[in-house]
Amino acid sequence: MRTVTLNNVSNMLFTVETEFAKIPVIDCHMHVTSIRDVDNVLEIVSEAGFHRASLLSIIDDKRVNFNPEVLLLKALHSEMFYAFGSLDYSFIFTGSQLQQLREQVDRLLSIGFDGVKMVEGKPVYRKLLKIRFDDPFYEDYFARLEETGFPLLFHVADPEEFWDPEKVPVWAKAQGWFYDQTYPSKEQFYKEVETVLDKHPRLKVVFAHFYFLSANMEAASSFLEKHRNAHLDLTPGIEMYRNFSMEKEAWREFFVKYGDRILFGTDIFGGERIESALAKVQLVRGFLETDEGLNLPRHTLEKIYCSNFQRIVGPKPRRLSFNLVVEECERLALEEARLSSQPLEETVARLVAGKIRSLS
Ligand SMILES: [Zn+2]
Repeated sequence: MRTVTLNNVSNMLFTVETEFAKIPVIDCHMHVTSIRDVDNVLEIVSEAGFHRASLLSIIDDKRVNFNPEVLLLKALHSEMFYAFGSLDYSFIFTGSQLQQLREQVDRLLSIGFDGVKMVEGKPVYRKLLKIRFDDPFYEDYFARLEETGFPLLFHVADPEEFWDPEKVPVWAKAQGWFYDQTYPSKEQFYKEVETVLDKHPRLKVVFAHFYFLSANMEAASSFLEKHRNAHLDLTPGIEMYRNFSMEKEAWREFFVKYGDRILFGTDIFGGERIESALAKVQLVRGFLETDEGLNLPRHTLEKIYCSNFQRIVGPKPRRLSFNLVVEECERLALEEARLSSQPLEETVARLVAGKIRSLS
């Protein structure tokens, strides 16, 4: 099987298109995992011409999570960046005391995060945590998100070929993303999420990568019909754009019909080369705006690029409480030191606490 990189896929599907619509664009899905990438992130958002961007933390068994990194960027550029924090599962990694998830939601809110990011539905993370989403463990957490209207950006499942030994792409396998019988099936993840959404119909949730439904338009539309507060982001998964391109007319209708439920995102990560980051923007925007793709009407583009995100998350990034940011980074520094067996002073979280203290 031939592996395709994002670059040659975008060349394959689209001609170079520099004149995109003059509409403010918010990227709902960027990652930062190192404080060394601060300048690079700023250059990317500037070159891409983004109005704003949402930085997502993820959980990590060596670091607890990357909340300090996203907080640092948000603290430095509070008008530019939204920040979605991840949960703290260090009780699983180190045996330290469980931080109740429900209380974690309240803490993330009071710190000034704009939402929660869960990557926990990606099969490799499930293997790490071993907790189902319909387990009582998560029950009052989802209830609290629903009560508070705090948005969730949720990665659940993966492209179906990652479960298929014949079809899994070489690059995915190299990342450890081939899922044999020791992983839950894609259907298992969907079943758990159905249970959660049925119980919590007001949960404001955006599913990353189109919830991996791009191969099945009917499933995508019945999902959106059934769950009125569920949304889908357009973050590649390049398989999405291959799937969409196979039935362009029908998908165009879908995008117009569900224009309120779809969000622009790229999955650009902080350390990424500018050209590669811009190729992602080019891929998604080219697909939405040009004849080679869906060529969507302007009012649909406005929703997908900007107004949906602002309605779901907020017209502007929330304000940080600098005191609570420092306190949280100090708390995370203790966990990080334990997980990584580093001296406390050398932890990233401690470093970020110091930088933020000097800003306030
Ligand atoms: Zn992502």
